[in-house]
Parts: sequence; structure tokens; C-alpha cells
Amino acid sequence: MSKKSFIVDAEKCSGCGLCVVSCKDEHVGSAYAPWSAPQPETGHFWVNIKAIERGVQPRVQMNYLPMLCQHCEDAPCMKVCDDDAIQRRDDGLVWIDAERCSGCGLCAPACPYDVIFKNEQLGIAQKCNACAHRVDAGELPRCVEVCPHEAILFGDEDSAPIQEAQRSGSEVLHPEYQTAPRVLWKGLPKPWIAGTLVDPQSDDCLDGVTVQVRNLFDDSTQQVRSDSFGDFRLSNLQSDAKYLIIMEKSGYRSERRVVTTAGDQDLGSVSLQRLG
Ligand code: SF4
Repeated sequence: MSKKSFIVDAEKCSGCGLCVVSCKDEHVGSAYAPWSAPQPETGHFWVNIKAIERGVQPRVQMNYLPMLCQHCEDAPCMKVCDDDAIQRRDDGLVWIDAERCSGCGLCAPACPYDVIFKNEQLGIAQKCNACAHRVDAGELPRCVEVCPHEAILFGDEDSAPIQEAQRSGSEVLHPEYQTAPRVLWKGLPKPWIAGTLVDPQSDDCLDGVTVQVRNLFDDSTQQVRSDSFGDFRLSNLQSDAKYLIIMEKSGYRSERRVVTTAGDQDLGSVSLQRLG
């Protein structure tokens, strides 16, 4: 049997929340034995939007990550379950058997992605099972079906759309957890360095300044030009790397900075002094 995979494109997610609402519409009050018991009306988010606010005023950017079970091949939740209630289907989807679950509560803190919820009424743990009942009927998980931006893809891992998404670059969320997730991600937020270039003599914004960045670890380079507001942004940089930034414009003394990308870095207002 072909294994299933998700591809989530964080750059396409607008944070609209349709996936969250549709998951509730599918699961609240509805049982799909053996794969899932009814989700309670409140408190559960089997898929949830994690909003990440980046930068400082006036350069603020929002990123949204639709968080769901990562259907790990090496799942910590399964390792702590003494009831054998958390199981993996032949297609790779991880599900919780409500008949076996004793509600001991060990799996939720064991999951590094924090996607398991306790159903207090039924006394069991619950989470996303990729709408296994729909998958068995040849349908897509509900969140995948409703996403207007096609930010969440789902299918056989050897199918053309999944293969294509993998070819064009994908990664797992928090590879340091080493859980071998079946959810692959594209467009995950990477640090940026931004600033505004000004002429301190005239107080004008400086457009057309060449801003070059060099990664001092791997020597990769990137170059942009400041816009008519003097603003520049160097995107998709490596986390926790050191970068040399060189800002140059004809008629001005070049300005150099070394910056560590411990998160996004805003240089604020950077003055270029006139020559002569
Ligand atoms: Fe288990 Fe959490 Fe991995 Fe899902 S994301 S399989 S709940 S460890």
C-alpha cells in the first residue's frame, strides 16, 4: 500500500482558518469508527493556525503555520502509550484507538508538536488522523479539500503532486526532534535582515543602494537594492549564521556591518555618508 504524505506550503497559508472550521464541522459530534470518536465542541484544535509575528514597526510580517499531527514514522506518542492505543495504519497515518485509550495522559506531553488533546467527557486522547474515514472513501482530508490557497496537499507519497512538491524543495518541521514526520513543509519562515538607508545631510531616503550579504559560514551571497523609500530586505537567510553586509552607492562611502541571524534582524535607519 502506498504511504500518504502531506505537503504544507507556509507561504501560501493566509491564516484564514477555514481548515480549523472545516475540521470542527467534520468531527465535532461525529464518530467515524474505528478511526475517531466525536470531537468535543470546545477546547480541541486537531488543526490549528499558529500565527508568527515577525519584525518591529514599521517592518512587520505575519506568517501562518497550519499545525496538525505530523504523522511521525518514529512517533514519541506511540513510545509512551502502554495501551497500544496509538497505532500506525499501513498507509502511514497515525491514529488513536478510542476503544483502547485509557486516557492516561502521557501521549500529549510526549508529542513535541503539541497536537494531542484530552477529551474530558470521553476520557480519551484525540488528535488529527488525516480524516482516515474520508481517505478510505477515496476523499481528501477535509482541511485539504477546503483550503482556498491549496496550502495543504495530501496524497500518495509517490504521486506526481507530492513528488513535484518534494523536488521543488521541502523540509520537515523541527528536524531536531528526529521523528521522521510524514508532513513535509515548504516556505517555512527563515530569518531576514532589513533596514532603511538614508542620507543624513539631506535626510532623504536613498534608493538604488546595492545591499550585498555574504554568509561567513558557507560564503553564499545575496544582493538586493533599496527601494524608493530606502528600504531593503534580504530574505530566506540561514538561522544563527553570521553575515557581512555591504551597502554601496555611487558618491557615498560604503557601510559594512556584521549581523548574526538569531531571528529576524532590523538594522533600523542606516546612514551613508557622502564622499568628499
Ligand atoms: Fe504522535 Fe505528535 Fe508525531 Fe502526531 S506529531 S505522530 S501526535 S508525536
